Amino acid sequence: MKKSLSIIAGVALAAFMMAACNKSNDNPAAPATQQSNGDKVYAYITNLGFAPSNIQDNGTEYIVEGDIIFPKNMQVPADNGKVKTEQFYTGVLVSQTNSRKIRLKVHSTMTSMSAEIDAAIAQWNAVPNCSIHWELATGTSYDVLIQDANLGAGVCGQGQFPAGGLAGALIKINKAQIAGNSFAQRQRTITHEMGHNVSFRHTNWSAIGESSATPVPGVGGTDASSIMNGGQCGSGATVLSAKDKQAAAVLYPL
Ligand SMILES: [Zn+2]
Repeated sequence: MKKSLSIIAGVALAAFMMAACNKSNDNPAAPATQQSNGDKVYAYITNLGFAPSNIQDNGTEYIVEGDIIFPKNMQVPADNGKVKTEQFYTGVLVSQTNSRKIRLKVHSTMTSMSAEIDAAIAQWNAVPNCSIHWELATGTSYDVLIQDANLGAGVCGQGQFPAGGLAGALIKINKAQIAGNSFAQRQRTITHEMGHNVSFRHTNWSAIGESSATPVPGVGGTDASSIMNGGQCGSGATVLSAKDKQAAAVLYPL
């Protein structure tokens, strides 16, 4: 009797495991509707610590804190933004392999700012002891697209956080807004948005009233010289600060 019970238990366990297996296998294949995936993305954004008051619904995407894009059809990371360790980032990184080659496609609407884009790439690529390496995509394959967009008065650019081990796929630059800025400041906007696409949040998130961010281990705190300070378009730092570089090397070691 005991033996047959254990056999039954074994069969039941095997059946359960198969069901569990099927369930996880089915999940990725199940087509998510735009609406339900959008709800998941909204939950993910709030799990990252952003306050609902800082989330704008833009139709096909959410815009957070003015310059960060979350497409409603994005792949939400498996941890749903809840897994955290301790400037500041989202807790979700570009994979080590992908960070070594981030191909940036310059849309035809942005070729007039090619020199500024080149300068921004050079800044990120010069960070010591850091795996981040951007390069211009010359063919049709790329990881990140940078394009001009009318983002409304006062918004200079928008970046997109990484997901699924990939750099955020899109950078929008409001060319009309930054056209009157100096070369160094136009370049700053592009370098800053590229920082969002590799997970950086605003270093001064607390001072400008944004929701809590995850400190980079050993590199938390404020930094007036950080190029990742928000709300400083046209007036902020134009080069990555010592702490910006230190943080990039901690998150993306060689
Ligand atoms: Zn920003």
